[in-house]
Amino acid sequence: MKILISSCLLGENVKYDGNNNSLDKKSLEKLKSRFELFGFCPEVSGGMPIPRVPCEIISTDPLKVQNRNKEDKTEFFIKGARLCLEYCKEHGIGTALLKSKSPSCGNEYIYDGTFSNKLIRYKGVTAKLLQENGIAVFNENQLDELYHFLKIANKNI
Ligand code: SF4
Repeated sequence: MKILISSCLLGENVKYDGNNNSLDKKSLEKLKSRFELFGFCPEVSGGMPIPRVPCEIISTDPLKVQNRNKEDKTEFFIKGARLCLEYCKEHGIGTALLKSKSPSCGNEYIYDGTFSNKLIRYKGVTAKLLQENGIAVFNENQLDELYHFLKIANKNI
């Protein structure tokens, strides 16, 4: 079974600060032994550099993403989300494990756009687009839910 995974969770240094958010070794090995993992970083694929100034969603309707220097980066986030959806479709991927709280990958909470570490219940641009297109999205704190979901879909796991 195929799973899309945020590249930073795989240990790739694609985060805004040039680091990663790697899952612990045991969790990664378990995932790798059971599934075919497809790493993807929507921000880098959308054209953002590494490192980059961190961004937050400052408006949801209309969507506006700005970095801490108040520069508009919305187009990069939309492009990255669209490319990610295309990538999933191309590879027949119906499940994603994405990094929580990211303005691209967060599936439950994101920072509120004030750059003051406050969370709001909303989704990152990519997580939202994937979900709207029928892809089940989990974050790194929902690994049990992910396994449970996939167990129902495939009894061999
Ligand atoms: Fe990780 Fe997603 Fe941010 Fe890329 S956009 S660094 S994959 S959380």
